[in-house]
Amino acid sequence: SPRKLEADVAIVGAGPVGLFAAFQCGMLGLSCALADVLEVPGGQCVALYPEKPIYDIPSRPSITGGGLIEALLEQVSPFNPAMLLGSRISDVAGKAGAFTLTNERGDSIAAKAIIVAAGAGAFGPNRPPLEGLEAYESTGAVQYFVKKRADFADKTIVVAGGGDSALDWALSLSEIAKHVYLLHRRDRFRGAPDTLARIEKRISEGKIEKVVPYQLSALQGEEGHLRQVEVKTLKGEARLLDADHLLPFYGLSTDLGPIALWGFNTERSSVPVNPATMETTTPGIYAIGDVAHYPGKMKLILQGFSEAAMATHAAYAVARPDEALRFEHSSNRSSRPGA
Ligand code: FAD
Repeated sequence: SPRKLEADVAIVGAGPVGLFAAFQCGMLGLSCALADVLEVPGGQCVALYPEKPIYDIPSRPSITGGGLIEALLEQVSPFNPAMLLGSRISDVAGKAGAFTLTNERGDSIAAKAIIVAAGAGAFGPNRPPLEGLEAYESTGAVQYFVKKRADFADKTIVVAGGGDSALDWALSLSEIAKHVYLLHRRDRFRGAPDTLARIEKRISEGKIEKVVPYQLSALQGEEGHLRQVEVKTLKGEARLLDADHLLPFYGLSTDLGPIALWGFNTERSSVPVNPATMETTTPGIYAIGDVAHYPGKMKLILQGFSEAAMATHAAYAVARPDEALRFEHSSNRSSRPGA
């Protein structure tokens, strides 16, 4: 059943900047709920470059994208913010002091103020341009994330893509599936040498069949039940693969999507804000991090951290209209947060 959360501040986007905003809320005594379409917090750092080192986080000479998110989660953990993951926030209604946010699963957050830390927009899979695709997505015949591996036992599966996700899932599912086709538009796969060696081994055992260089061209079946996947070479030579499932792993793309419909001004891929408060054109809604724009904006994590502090201080006046916020240094506290 849908979850109903309540918080002083709702934060849309659990990337590095949203996570630091959650910490700042905690320091000011505001409760918060973080929402993200991804199943895990971390935004671009986790979805796009978990192993890559970053060199320009103040006081961290080198830290990986994944390492930075781990540290931010540890920093915010004493405040235990609610997290609503795995579904995109689609609707925002109400006004300052009484907003309601709803995601595509039907969960909601009632909040007094909103901080939009949505980066380049919600992450979603790159979908192949195939006719009738939605019907097959709705039945689970076509999936972009393996939610339940056991569903693929004894099935015939077409795994499409040439990167790590495609290779790792082809290997993993080949242990339980009836047959796995591994489809790629090039002759070569991009993967770690060890992974490529394991793929070759499974091919020699007859568990995986390489289908290269082919591209997806059509799906055949009825009412969302897949029977065959048609693939073609660049020259147009076609092959029909019997299949129960198609799993395309073509990476992630971002889409500002519903944010443009939430009432405040947006530009093509950003939200203009007042640089003194990070407020959007709707009172009580703030935007920070990559999604926010003002003169002098740099899309850097360190600048997003500063914006998180500014937005939470401004949001305090909306969440606690009768209380004046006394500015304090964190070092003024008698103990570490949560201790
Ligand atoms: P994001 O990290 O983009 O997170 C936004 C989150 O919001 C996403 O998870 C998204 O799914 C979610 N979201 C959006 N809309 C919705 C919605 N409607 N409902 C639910 N969830 C939603 N920066 C540096 O400072 N230093 C570097 O060295 C550096 N290196 C980089 C290397 C690479 C390869 C890349 C791609 C980026 C790099 N960056 C670097 C940029 C940095 O990652 C971004 O500036 C940073 O991630 C922005 O953080 P954010 O929290 O604003 O947004």
